[in-house]
Amino acid sequence: MTDELKIEDDYNPQDRVDAFDKLEPEFWKHKKLDEMSTEEWEALCDGCGKCCLNKLEIKGRVYFTNAYCRFLDCDSCLCKIYPHRFEVVPDCRNIDLAAVREHPRWLPKTCAYLLLDNGYDLPAWHPLVTRKADSVHQAKMSLKGRELTNESKVKDYEDHIVDWQDL
Ligand code: SF4
Ligand code: SF4
Repeated sequence: MTDELKIEDDYNPQDRVDAFDKLEPEFWKHKKLDEMSTEEWEALCDGCGKCCLNKLEIKGRVYFTNAYCRFLDCDSCLCKIYPHRFEVVPDCRNIDLAAVREHPRWLPKTCAYLLLDNGYDLPAWHPLVTRKADSVHQAKMSLKGRELTNESKVKDYEDHIVDWQDL
């Protein structure tokens, strides 16, 4: 695997969002996270890419850095190796209910799983609400356009700690 991997040219993130039509309307408003189908759970991911930033834990406190996993495509904010990510990156964590509840600070505060688990609604820019895959980018809630560093170039993660408001 190399950094030269590309998201397939014919992959269109809008196709994923168009398929939301098959889901129960506004299912997230009346289902708990542990009642959702796999398709509903996957649809909750807004595609922000912020969980693919490296984190540091110092004296029990978690800090986000601007250093991104080398397999993230920073333009689309999609994983370049999504089907094989757990084989290639041993510390890439599956975002399941246990991850949300055991390590909430490993997720940004805008993460849909965290919001819903804490009793909040989805934000107005969420693709499930807008039905537009790029609304997360338009709202500047994704990593797109931010000053980021590929983790392979990092010497000291402490130099890369960021305090962005949406983390
Ligand atoms: S932070 Fe949450 S919503 Fe954003 S990409 Fe990761 S799992 Fe999806
Ligand atoms: S391997 Fe994991 S952490 Fe890296 S880009 Fe893919 S999903 Fe994100």
